[in-house]
Amino acid sequence: MSAAADLRVAIVTGAGSGIGRATALKLAAQGCRVVASDIDEAAAAETAGLIVRAGGSAFAVPADVSRDADCAVLVAQTLARWGRLDVAFNNAGVPGHPLLTVEHHPAQWQRVIDVNLTGVFNCLRHELPAMQRGGGGGAIVNTASIMGLRGAPGGSAYCAAKHGVVGLTKAAALEVGRDHIRINVVCPGYIGTPMTLGEDSIFSAKKLQSGVGRAALRRLAEADEVAEMVLWLCSPQASYVTGAVFTVDGGVTAG
Ligand code: NAP
Repeated sequence: MSAAADLRVAIVTGAGSGIGRATALKLAAQGCRVVASDIDEAAAAETAGLIVRAGGSAFAVPADVSRDADCAVLVAQTLARWGRLDVAFNNAGVPGHPLLTVEHHPAQWQRVIDVNLTGVFNCLRHELPAMQRGGGGGAIVNTASIMGLRGAPGGSAYCAAKHGVVGLTKAAALEVGRDHIRINVVCPGYIGTPMTLGEDSIFSAKKLQSGVGRAALRRLAEADEVAEMVLWLCSPQASYVTGAVFTVDGGVTAG
């Protein structure tokens, strides 16, 4: 825990694993009070437990971000417990299916869009009024991907959703700047999390190796390295940064 009191309240979605958990732990280490949310209730509770055992403040709220009602409850429970919302990391996501566009079943396409794009919209729809009512501004980071900046064969739903997150972030940032609310988007490259390394990963070892080989830094990133960018974007040090896109990709998109 930091010595300086940081009373900010932060919501993190997808907080049960990977980038979301790493960011939740780091926000809490700075002193933020963290609402750890995930579709996986036990995983969210585990993250909250890690924070509390380290001396921080956290509680878990299960939520499927593709469901507007879940996002409403997430924000309502945050306000009921701590009375304010200062920071949100809208990060929950699912991998796409490694299918050509014409091979996608509409239901497969829809789920990827529902979680990865509409999920961010659902979160913003409830977070922004809470921040606006609070009157103290706020900082939001949405998670897209390098696939939100470029195409990839066999990744049309994921690419479409993540490009959508980039556009949604820019439009929403323009709407709420006057309320001193900043919204930015982070675009991770190849990060060592269950999404890339787990049993259900859409990446074969060969595909992952080839992706990592395109990074100037020639390695997978740690989830912590994305979390550091999110922390900065949410900090007062980023006070003039909004509507902007930040890659954390070891240089993949530099080429
Ligand atoms: P991760 O380790 O799989 O964590 C994602 C978390 O989100 C999981 O706990 C997952 O639960 C949860 N989740 C899935 N669907 C959800 C829903 N509908 N509502 C709420 N939570 C849900 O993956 P990660 O790598 O940390 O990914 C975090 C974000 O970064 C995602 O948006 C992803 O697209 C993006 N990203 C990741 C990479 C990478 O290389 N890892 C690269 C670019 C972008 P379950 O495990 O139960 O599904």
